[in-house]
Amino acid sequence: MSTIAIVGGGITGLAAAWHLATRRPGHEVVLVESTSRLGGKLDSIRVAGHVVDGGAESVLARRPEALELMAEIDAPLVHPERFPASLWSRGAMTPMPAGTLMGVPSDPSSLRGLLTDDEVARVRDEHSVDLDGADIGIGDLVERACGSAVVDRLVEPLLGGVYAGHARALSARACMPALWEAAAAGRSLLQTAARAAEVGAARRDEPVFAAVDGGLGTLPARLAEAARGAGVTIRTGAVVSGLTAEGPAWRLRLTGSESGAGTGDAAPATTMHADAVLLATPAAPTARLLSDPAPDAAAALRTIEYASMALVTFAFRASDSAAFEGTTGFLVPPVDGAQIKASTFSSSKWPWLTDAVPDLRFVRVSLGRHGEERVLQKDDADLIRIGLADLRKAVGAMPEPVDAQVRRWGGGLPQYAVGHLDTVASIRAATAAHPTLALAGAAYDGVGIPACIASGRRAAEELVTRL
Ligand SMILES: Cc1cc2nc3c(=O)[nH]c(=O)nc-3n(C[C@H](O)[C@H](O)[C@H](O)COP(=O)(O)OP(=O)(O)OC[C@H]3O[C@@H](n4cnc5c(N)ncnc54)[C@H](O)[C@@H]3O)c2cc1C
Repeated sequence: MSTIAIVGGGITGLAAAWHLATRRPGHEVVLVESTSRLGGKLDSIRVAGHVVDGGAESVLARRPEALELMAEIDAPLVHPERFPASLWSRGAMTPMPAGTLMGVPSDPSSLRGLLTDDEVARVRDEHSVDLDGADIGIGDLVERACGSAVVDRLVEPLLGGVYAGHARALSARACMPALWEAAAAGRSLLQTAARAAEVGAARRDEPVFAAVDGGLGTLPARLAEAARGAGVTIRTGAVVSGLTAEGPAWRLRLTGSESGAGTGDAAPATTMHADAVLLATPAAPTARLLSDPAPDAAAALRTIEYASMALVTFAFRASDSAAFEGTTGFLVPPVDGAQIKASTFSSSKWPWLTDAVPDLRFVRVSLGRHGEERVLQKDDADLIRIGLADLRKAVGAMPEPVDAQVRRWGGGLPQYAVGHLDTVASIRAATAAHPTLALAGAAYDGVGIPACIASGRRAAEELVTRL
């Protein structure tokens, strides 16, 4: 029986382990996670004594992978309320325009109220953009086609929410392929958005997002339990600190986690042998592990930068918090100079949370974008004060919270810079000499949870077909 080692116990590694154990039985599957906790960017925290999401909180339901996985492990699926989100722009709360494709409108008049008449006219007067086959920043593409205002007030906050990055630095080809392909083929971005809106309208009754009852942070433990039940060995608190090719097989060096918070089953500097290795780790640790067996891949991986951020979650008394009813939250265009970049009114968004904790309302704000991590150097008390001050500016008078907790995410989200697809292609080419090695996770083909699950499954399939 061959052994497949999976390094990294985030959603990618867990999904790969589950896939191998249930779809490709007959291998010994060992997942190794460096921290004492499984889940990576999916985590729960306690606020006012209650468990709420401390990281990712929803999955796109218009892709099948996450919903399939939840169904396979009998995780109780929930959907958010369909209240509209808002934009806090130019000091006012404006409803999020409907029918946009990552901010590119299908109908420019839907931007009235958010943009001035002149800015709307510039959007309507769309210019064609000659790309000559090259990648471009998504912000630059939309700015050249439709002007800067729609980028600053809509594209930027929307992309900021997904990537914690800058619209003009993020790759159009990797982040918004539909828009890039349209521009590359000389087609209109507005018409592309209109076609996407038609498809969306046809699926109007299907939920767009989903999570699990109890919060998405509870998914990793459920998935790990199911994977263990299907025969996967999971070792936490063990850092894979070295990877050596031994012919077609691999030797992994395992050391205890820095925190020493492991389960104890990973004594410092042990060795593990595997016939195949799936690295489901972020770019930096993956680069460290590949520095010997695939130095060119390691060099390319080191060019993928990550954004850090912090989430501050407040608990307010339900009786005090009328301000949070009827909307799921708001995004903030950075151009206005606010410190927060978004706020989610979690209790309004997730009925399971209100049912579980009816006397409190949870609200979270996010701070920090790629290259603007200075705000994150402040201590927790400052982040709470800054978050509350911006919330008050945005929604008006607000009560004092009964509790507030900060969860920091150093290196939270990979930045798909212009040229990202070429970078990924060069990483794959540089590891092609090792058919029993596969790479998966947020660094490559999508940062969203369904994309990560897909990449974990795909990498698992690659390995079993090559073993
Ligand atoms: C704050 C935040 C909110 C988000 N919200 C959403 C959302 O609502 N919806 C959505 O779809 N996406 C969201 N995302 C993105 C998404 O959650 C992530 O892209 C995804 O979870 C990444 O999963 P992963 O398994 O690829 O990597 P990770 O979650 O980073 O997991 C990698 C794991 O590898 C481990 N590891 C690293 N090095 C080693 C080593 N040497 N040895 C062993 N183990 C190692 C790490 O400890 C970690 O557990 C969010 C991201 C962040 C940061």
